[in-house]
Amino acid sequence: MRQSRARAGEAPRVLGRFGDFGGMYVPETLVPACQELDRAFRDAWGDPAFRNELDHLLRTYAGRPSPLTECDRLGEELGCRILFKREDLNHTGSHKINNCLGQILLAKRMGKTRIIAETGAGQHGVATATVCARFGLPCVVYMGATDVERQKPNVFRMKLLGAEVIPVTSGTGTLKDAMNEALRYWVANAETHFYIIGTVAGPHPYPLMVRDFQSVIGREARQQIMDAEGRLPDTIVACIGGGSNAMGLFHPFLDDESVRIFGVEAAGKGIPSGLHAASLAGGTPGVLHGNRTYLLQDDDGQIIDAHSISAGLDYPGIGPEHSWLHDMERVEYVSATDEQALDAFQLCSRLEGIIPALEPSHALSFVGTIIGDMDKDEIVILNMCGRGDKDLGAVLPMLEERGKL
Ligand SMILES: *Cc1c(COP(=O)(O)O)cnc(C)c1O
Repeated sequence: MRQSRARAGEAPRVLGRFGDFGGMYVPETLVPACQELDRAFRDAWGDPAFRNELDHLLRTYAGRPSPLTECDRLGEELGCRILFKREDLNHTGSHKINNCLGQILLAKRMGKTRIIAETGAGQHGVATATVCARFGLPCVVYMGATDVERQKPNVFRMKLLGAEVIPVTSGTGTLKDAMNEALRYWVANAETHFYIIGTVAGPHPYPLMVRDFQSVIGREARQQIMDAEGRLPDTIVACIGGGSNAMGLFHPFLDDESVRIFGVEAAGKGIPSGLHAASLAGGTPGVLHGNRTYLLQDDDGQIIDAHSISAGLDYPGIGPEHSWLHDMERVEYVSATDEQALDAFQLCSRLEGIIPALEPSHALSFVGTIIGDMDKDEIVILNMCGRGDKDLGAVLPMLEERGKL
């Protein structure tokens, strides 16, 4: 590991900056809204009453703490000890609820009366619509028109939960366009509206705030492994779309130098094919959605659409803190292809009775590739960040086509 100027766990020292990344690249009219949010978040995060209310909701509504499950048969197959942090067991089926509960409590505290969100695959839209139903706040979700077509069950869920879904036809009608549109709408309505961003991206304070709301994953995992084994894990692994489930697991371990940390991006059809979502492996630094980070872009700075079998990893950027951790070499960023993720999806289902989402299947597939480097007593914690129910419709024809069912 290269000697870092600041300890990784302390960032950001300068407002919204993670080394050369992050920041607040927004129209001037939005700066006061971001600053107001920054102040409100710091104030809330330091207030025991806010933290207690959030903890209570996480416990009684989301179902926390999520268990840490040892996977014996997978461990035998992979040649190590592997434990899943079971975010798949949360209400709404993934880690996204942790962040949405935090942000909606903050919205209430700030006196905002309406919620906006963006969504790609629909998972964040569903989690946002869920907390809006729970708190009785009207909710508008921006979703690319292409995604509205591709993700019908989630569009139906959001509507059932009382949200209004607005299809965005600009660009390629996918997540990046939905986020552009949501930011644009927020500029005009920041007085009354709270924008719930679903990952560690966007302008400051979102990357830091979403990380802090998701860090409950890593804090619990740390406590659970200490209670069970009396020691820290050797390795922790998570998949990366924007990077919120990964930051949530990683953050409480960043200053533990003995813990190896791996972030797994989606390599789609392979990095050389250009059809992937690996912003660190195949991208360059630039500015998108209010922050500076690694992006998939062409020589003219035009964003290139991401590709992955997993809709949740299909984002052409990555949270700025990951870009920083990558450059300082604290976290090792690797990737797994569609095919590798599908294999891991099946392996996990058969050996553990846990049907994983396609996103964490990427992380699991990577664990299979480092077997040679590990001994059988090594402890690996993998963030099982979502369940696979949402993916069954997409996976079935692919497995049939490959004769793998
Ligand atoms: C949304 C989602 C992701 C990707 O988002 P991150 O911010 O990278 O965590 C990964 N896994 C699941 C199950 C998701 O729903």
